[in-house]
Amino acid sequence: MNSKTVWRKRPTLLYAGLRSCSSSPTPHGLLLQSTAGKGSPLAVLPTKSLIYSVLFTSVISSPLLKPSLGLLKYVIDSKSSVIHPSRNPVMRYILRKTIYNHFCAGENDVQVRRSVQKMKSMGFKGVILGYARESVANMDDVKHLPDSSNIKQEALDRAVDEWKDGNLRTLKMIGKGDYMNVKFTGAGPAAVEALTRGDRIPPSRIQAAITEICAATAAQGSRVWIDAEQQIFQPAIDVWTIDLMRRFNREGSVVVFNTIQAYLKLSAENVSRHLKLAQAEGWTLGIKLVRGAYIAHDYRSRIHDAKAATDNNYNHIVQSLLTRQFPTGAPTSPQMFPDVCLFVATHNAESVRKAYSLSRYRMHNKLPTIPVELGQLQGMADEVSCELLAHNSSSDATAGQGQGKVAEPGVFKCLAWGSLEECLHFLLRRAIENQSAMERTRHTAVALRREAWRRLAW
Ligand SMILES: Cc1cc2nc3c(=O)[nH]c(=O)nc-3n(C[C@H](O)[C@H](O)[C@H](O)COP(=O)(O)OP(=O)(O)OC[C@H]3O[C@@H](n4cnc5c(N)ncnc54)[C@H](O)[C@@H]3O)c2cc1C
Repeated sequence: MNSKTVWRKRPTLLYAGLRSCSSSPTPHGLLLQSTAGKGSPLAVLPTKSLIYSVLFTSVISSPLLKPSLGLLKYVIDSKSSVIHPSRNPVMRYILRKTIYNHFCAGENDVQVRRSVQKMKSMGFKGVILGYARESVANMDDVKHLPDSSNIKQEALDRAVDEWKDGNLRTLKMIGKGDYMNVKFTGAGPAAVEALTRGDRIPPSRIQAAITEICAATAAQGSRVWIDAEQQIFQPAIDVWTIDLMRRFNREGSVVVFNTIQAYLKLSAENVSRHLKLAQAEGWTLGIKLVRGAYIAHDYRSRIHDAKAATDNNYNHIVQSLLTRQFPTGAPTSPQMFPDVCLFVATHNAESVRKAYSLSRYRMHNKLPTIPVELGQLQGMADEVSCELLAHNSSSDATAGQGQGKVAEPGVFKCLAWGSLEECLHFLLRRAIENQSAMERTRHTAVALRREAWRRLAW
């Protein structure tokens, strides 16, 4: 890490009850709190990133947000050569220097590798990298053609091939232990149609492509996340992904993770069903747990009625898995529980703290549990990520003083890469997501500003 740009001071954190959690009967109540004035978890952020983050979160949590979002949407949707960033160098420059640099890892191998390295040197165990390009083929010119048309078939095949090549290129930018995130709908119209029909097996070209992607991932010791999408696609995504786990998550290796959206009323049942399958067939279940990103564009009746119910369900699923129980309460002994790896993907500080505390509590006390890792998106909830890093690094120091090392849950950052044009829709979604999490963003903005003042007063 560059010592000129990083103001790392040994973080001094007060983990309310955590150090003595072995004797605490209520591990879920453990919360991390930074001790005011005694060093900040955000000290690991390079100064340039800190300045960007202060500016960005200040705008997002101010009355400037609404007009800024409107402007961004207008610019992205604009067909005008005067405005659209692909044709207007000034607009390109502004977008690149503001939100692109904040949320994206770069547009080519060199830039992305540098970003990945930067995250690792800050203390992150690894990264999750995804190619932001969403729709890989323009089907407008061929969609009127009959299905039997060769031209149409070639366009469908090209979309799948570009998706495969993009993912294989992404894979080369990460290392052992890192993740790559993959969206099945990214394979274009053939995937979208098959998922919508609920086909139990992907079209043959997609099947061959995803098999090649998973095999290459396994060969380099990395892992693949299959993203969760809208409900219309999700039953087939689950089936396709379970089949991949059945093939690749064998004999102790975990290559493929499925995504569970906790905002769905049936998600606890779904997790239990997947656990039973893994148990019966003898493979390892990889679960990435999210709350769900499509509340505004999905069947609302299938989603919990209130945010609090989603939060409770999320925390309940985490707690069940970490204690080797079925979330539906089906009776089982921890010994009969299948092998499971959990990735807690959230910016919600309470969920992160509960998962982290419970995992450490159970490992520290040698209680049956499962491996867990946690992660947030680049440019989001930095204070949450950095607090985890600070705790892991202070535990390392404790272990160094001969007090014994308890394996810490790994902390990851999720990065997106692609050219500015390829990332535009991803960027708009991030900005909107920050808007809907206004309270959290305000909290982040306050923490970042406090860290900036601390450096100025140094
Ligand atoms: C690393 C990472 C990977 C992700 N991958 C995926 C993915 O593959 N698929 C996907 O769908 N999402 C994904 N997400 C996004 C995720 O689903 C959430 O939209 C986002 O993280 C915000 O939720 P949160 O857990 O961070 O916490 P919070 O900000 O506390 O929760 C916000 C979430 O709560 C839920 N919610 C809000 N209001 C209500 C309400 N009235 N009733 C019920 N529920 C409500 C919604 O899910 C909303 O997104 C990912 C997020 C991360 C951090």
